[in-house]
Amino acid sequence: MSGYAGTPRSGAPGQVKEVTSLANPVIKDIKSLALKKFRDQQNAFLAEGLKLVIDALELGWTIKTLVFAKTARGNPLVEKVAARSVAAGALVLEVSEKVLTSVTRKDNPQTVLGVFEQKLMPLRDVSLSGSDVWVALDRIRDPGNLGTVIRTADAVGAKGVLLVGDCVDPFALETVRATMGSIFAVPLVKASPDAFLSWRKAFKGLVAGTHLKGAVDYRSVDFADKPVVLLMGNESQGLPEPLAERCDVLLRIPQAGRADSLNLAVATGIMLYEVRRSALSLDGVP
Ligand code: SAM
Repeated sequence: MSGYAGTPRSGAPGQVKEVTSLANPVIKDIKSLALKKFRDQQNAFLAEGLKLVIDALELGWTIKTLVFAKTARGNPLVEKVAARSVAAGALVLEVSEKVLTSVTRKDNPQTVLGVFEQKLMPLRDVSLSGSDVWVALDRIRDPGNLGTVIRTADAVGAKGVLLVGDCVDPFALETVRATMGSIFAVPLVKASPDAFLSWRKAFKGLVAGTHLKGAVDYRSVDFADKPVVLLMGNESQGLPEPLAERCDVLLRIPQAGRADSLNLAVATGIMLYEVRRSALSLDGVP
C-alpha cells in the first residue's frame, strides 16, 4: 500500500483529481480500509454519504480524502464540501461510478465518501459530573451492535462510549454505517479491563452493571442527578466476574417468554432510556 490516502498535507491546500482507474493507488489505499490492519496503518476510516461528511467536518474531524461521483458534479452542497476539503488540505477525487462501486462494494453506493482520521479520547480525560452518562461495553464483538449503541448513546445525550477489553473496531465500515453519523458526535475511549478498573476506583458516581443474574429490577433505581457509568456485558459471555463484582449495582431487565436474554444493543437502549428518563422530554426541556 502506498499510504497515500493516509497522508494529510499539513496546512497546505489539497488537490482535486479525476480518477477512472480501479488500479489508482489512492483508490487501492481507500479500498484497503476495509481491513483493520490498514485502517490502523493509515490511522483512517471511511464514512459514506454527503450528510455524514458535512456533519463530520462541522464537528471538527480531519478529512484526508473526499471522494465524489462524477454525477454529483454541480451539486452545490458537494461543491461546497469539496472546496472545504481542499482548503483543509485533503485530496479530493472525482471518480467514475465503477470506482465508487468498487470502493464501497455496494451496487447503489452513496455519491460522496470521506476518509477521516481516527480519533479516540484518552481514558484519563474521561471525567463525569452532574448527571453525565457514559456507556461501558465489555468486549463487544458485533459491529452492528456497537454502531447501534453509539447511535443510541448519541440519541439520549450520553457523553461517550468506553470500549473495555478486546472490542470490535469502532472504525469498521459496518460499525460506522450502523452509527448513522453518530460516530462523529460521541467520544470513544478504549481501555483494558485493568485500566478501566483503576479509573473506576477514582470515579465517585454510580457504576450500574447489567447482568442476567442481577438482583435489582432496572426500574427500581433512581439515576437522576448523579453521574452514571452503565456497564454492559459481552454478547455471548455476559459480564465477567472481575467487572461484575466492581459494579455498585447489578441490574436485570425482567423477561417473560422463552428468550434467554435480550440482544445487547436492545438491552443498552432500554437501560439508557431508563437512566436518562428524567433528562429527556419531547420538547427538549426536562
Ligand atoms: N449468555 C450471556 C450471559 O449469560 O450473560 C448473554 C449476554 S446478553 C446477549 C449481552 C448483554 O446484554 C448482557 O451481558 C447484559 O449486559 C445485557 N442483557 C441482555 N439481556 C439482559 C437482561 N434481561 N437483563 C440485564 N441485562 C441484559
